[in-house]
Amino acid sequence: MQVLVLNCGSSSIKADVLDPDSGARARYARVERVGTATCAIRVGDGAEQALDGATHETALAVLLPRMLEGLTVGAVGHRVVHGGERFTAPTRIDDALLSEFEALSALAPLHNPHNIAGIRAARAALPGVAHVAVFDTAFHATLPRRARTYAIPTALAAEHGIRRYGFHGPSHRWVAERAAEFMGEDLRQLRIVTCHLGNGASAAAVEYGRSVETSMGMTPLEGLVMGTRSGDLDPGVVVELARRGIDPATLDHTLNYESGLAGLSGVGNDLRDIEARAAEGDDACRLAIIVFAHRLRKYIGAYAAVMGGADAVVFTGGIGENSAEMRHRVAQRLEFLGARLDEDRNRAARVSLEKWCAEISAPHGRTRLLVVKTDEAHAIGRDAARIAREADVVEGVLRIPVAISARHIHLDRRSIDALFGANYELTPRSPLSQPGQYASEERLTLIGPKGEIPDVRVLGPERAETQVEIARTDEFKLGVDAPVRGSGDLASTPGITLQGPKGRITLDHGLICARRHIHMTPADAKRFGVEHGDVVEVALDTEGRDLVFGDVLVRVSPHYKLEMHVDTDEGNAAGLGRGAEGVLVHTEGAVRLLRRKVAFDA
Ligand code: ADP
Repeated sequence: MQVLVLNCGSSSIKADVLDPDSGARARYARVERVGTATCAIRVGDGAEQALDGATHETALAVLLPRMLEGLTVGAVGHRVVHGGERFTAPTRIDDALLSEFEALSALAPLHNPHNIAGIRAARAALPGVAHVAVFDTAFHATLPRRARTYAIPTALAAEHGIRRYGFHGPSHRWVAERAAEFMGEDLRQLRIVTCHLGNGASAAAVEYGRSVETSMGMTPLEGLVMGTRSGDLDPGVVVELARRGIDPATLDHTLNYESGLAGLSGVGNDLRDIEARAAEGDDACRLAIIVFAHRLRKYIGAYAAVMGGADAVVFTGGIGENSAEMRHRVAQRLEFLGARLDEDRNRAARVSLEKWCAEISAPHGRTRLLVVKTDEAHAIGRDAARIAREADVVEGVLRIPVAISARHIHLDRRSIDALFGANYELTPRSPLSQPGQYASEERLTLIGPKGEIPDVRVLGPERAETQVEIARTDEFKLGVDAPVRGSGDLASTPGITLQGPKGRITLDHGLICARRHIHMTPADAKRFGVEHGDVVEVALDTEGRDLVFGDVLVRVSPHYKLEMHVDTDEGNAAGLGRGAEGVLVHTEGAVRLLRRKVAFDA
């Protein structure tokens, strides 16, 4: 399968069609300076073509047909900058999800609206394939509370949703994985400081495979010095500038687009130009370089402290991969960590998609210094393909509706007469899922040695034998011991007292805790490959409370409708809601579904 990866930034669009396993590109294209008079598109290594004044929408209308011509794409991965608290894993996109992203746009006004424009255009161009959102924030969902909390009044933070999220997740995760691979170690055994230094820049502390600190916060403005963003700033500065009459929009623009390397150097945001000018003696450019390096060195030391040490420091992004001078400056004083730069290796280091890692530290140090080529598109494409493939498998699986069967009573003729009066007829109230069955208007009180439960629903029509079905919790309330039995299997079961409007009876048997079971027709049984009386396992995929139920009895009859029944205790344990579904565990899809969950939780 080939995957289209779309990364719609504030002023650029990157598109790649790639193999999600190898990362090999079938095609790629870039649109630069979106929204300006000089907007242009370049497909592959071809010449730039003008798209004067194109917006994200008009640029995508040109870009997408060019990307897809003659290629078959099985999934689309979309970079979405802000996932908020809700999205902490790659997620398949549908209409409902899109509206949630729109609501999140307030958190990332610079980015999310463009990401959404890309999603809309791509869904229109490729309606038949899975579209998957891959979030910058997701990898940092593991930040502990102490790292994601700003020390402002808790109520204020809660009211405005102010907390740290972190960004560049796909890149930090990708390079940490590649570093572990290069070192021949398990990522779960390593503490790595990853430094993504592109136009946007951030560092992360990746402890045993999980992000535990990162330099960007609620927005991508916090932390390192960047191409045009200030990074860390005394919040008092912002307050003071506001007090002096600079309005929020201007401040926002200044800190996001006119600061950082560009603001300090005065020659723009490209470090190549700044390094060239600094070499010629330009003091502003020299200052830009040393402020950048100092800030980063400070973070590396801090993150080693956060993790109690570091096994590797990884440099990536346009600056991290290419500027030997910046790596030299940053690594100069890291000997205390056990990281010693090898100057020859540093100068000679070249990374590419083919040769993606170079070591730049001297041998035998405690902390290794590595340059790793990041490949965010491959990272996003890999996630998108995984979600799309799983969705295909899971959608091919036979699902079983699951419903809670609350405590209830079936009555025989003798009991109805005794409880409601001679020849009384039950009054149907609402039909049940099994054909011909109904909940009646009638209710009874259960009386046990310890307590009573009023208003227990009677189900119709009348049965050959009276049977009372309760949950484990009810047993303790009543002070009785009900064995787990299939419906109708009443030999050697205890009794219970029933109080009705016209009388009371004490049964000598008939009290059970219903065995969980699936009703199905012979045709269903054939599809599932099971028979009446089989005992199976059913996996429930519920929101955060997945559960596999064993000991599920299969009951087959042409009069049934496909449905699994559990009692209230079981339903609550699984967080069962309306419309819940389960899958038989012996089917391949169910195993995949469970594995996905296990992998996600790990
Ligand atoms: P983005 O964050 O937009 O993806 P990149 O990761 O491509 O950006 O990084 C772009 C930056 O990398 C450029 O602004 C430039 O400063 C820097 N860069 C690229 N090549 C070099 C180089 N050879 N020397 C110094 N800096 C470089």
